[in-house]
Amino acid sequence: MRFYQYIWAFLTAACLVLPSFQALGMPPPEIRVMVEEAPRVMVNGMGQPVRVVIGEGRDASEFYARSSATISASNDGLIVEDRPAGREITMLDQARRYSIGSRTYRGTLTATWLSPTKVIVVNNVPVEDYLVGLIGSEISPAWPIESIKAQAVAARTYAMNQVESSHRGNARPYDVTSTVMSQVYDGAHKEDERSRDGVLSTKGQVLLRGGAIFPAYFHSCCGGLTEHAHNVWPGEEGPPQVEDRYCARSPKLIWNFRIPAAEFASRLRASGIQTGEILGVSTESESDSPRVENFIIQDQEGVKSVKATELRRIFGYSEIKSTWFTVKMEGGEIAFDGRGYGHGAGMCQWGAKGMADEGKTYLEILKFYYPDAELTTAY
Ligand SMILES: [Zn+2]
Repeated sequence: MRFYQYIWAFLTAACLVLPSFQALGMPPPEIRVMVEEAPRVMVNGMGQPVRVVIGEGRDASEFYARSSATISASNDGLIVEDRPAGREITMLDQARRYSIGSRTYRGTLTATWLSPTKVIVVNNVPVEDYLVGLIGSEISPAWPIESIKAQAVAARTYAMNQVESSHRGNARPYDVTSTVMSQVYDGAHKEDERSRDGVLSTKGQVLLRGGAIFPAYFHSCCGGLTEHAHNVWPGEEGPPQVEDRYCARSPKLIWNFRIPAAEFASRLRASGIQTGEILGVSTESESDSPRVENFIIQDQEGVKSVKATELRRIFGYSEIKSTWFTVKMEGGEIAFDGRGYGHGAGMCQWGAKGMADEGKTYLEILKFYYPDAELTTAY
């Protein structure tokens, strides 16, 4: 064999080996979860001092705050326990946990100054650990294991898509938030053995559409029909709409919300939507869905239109639980009667539970809600 043939043989072998290296040896990636956004945040050391590192690299300095570190935003940057601390601090201790309010976090917490009235705290955590905590916040570790596995794959796909999007040059200092607008993550105290089993038995598995990781949306209960992503986020492409009988027995299938008309108007005004005394209400549906696109208000001045998604934000996602509703005025109240809980796009969590209860596997569940996607192992 000539020399170049050796080189060629070596390169060919390396190419064949690389994918399995990736499958076996690559550490799971980390994700940056924004866990707090406030003028002032207290990080508790849970009985031990909090190690605070100010700045980065050679210029970094550090100190220990006694049992907790109070971080606030000022005009000039962060203030930690009365010390000026620049634009960013890190609270490090891989072996331990910190808490903020009732939530516990493992890994590193980074606080970043955003404005004179806003600090954000970001938790850097390995994706697999993040997913274990997320199962306990998004669904319940007591649910059938196949629905936990489906949730783990969908959430991992969504998370990895957000990490990729950050790497593509989105300059935000975090990958995901921890609220209903992204994926609910209440921290490491929501970890549980069954959640860990569901996450680890699908380790590294993600969904691809057209060969690419995509935001695999999910929500609590679709109410019987999932929603097009473009109706929730204009321009967004999501999985096709599917008719879903599996969530029919969900406690989240129907909801109602009653609010006095005067209070309804004053809360709209507080959100910048000028509204007089309300004389009537009605809705306009999406063209390709029974869900409401626009909420129509009639007052003495005429007719106003508010996006139904905006209405949910104003009155609370747990009050107006979905945009699939009818509305009427009745005895001085605005009365909403609706179906489902959440935005409705992608996997229906209660439907996934219903499918698992009927003996379906997590692969069947994922195929049902993401029919145009395929499963692969990323690491
Ligand atoms: Zn459903």
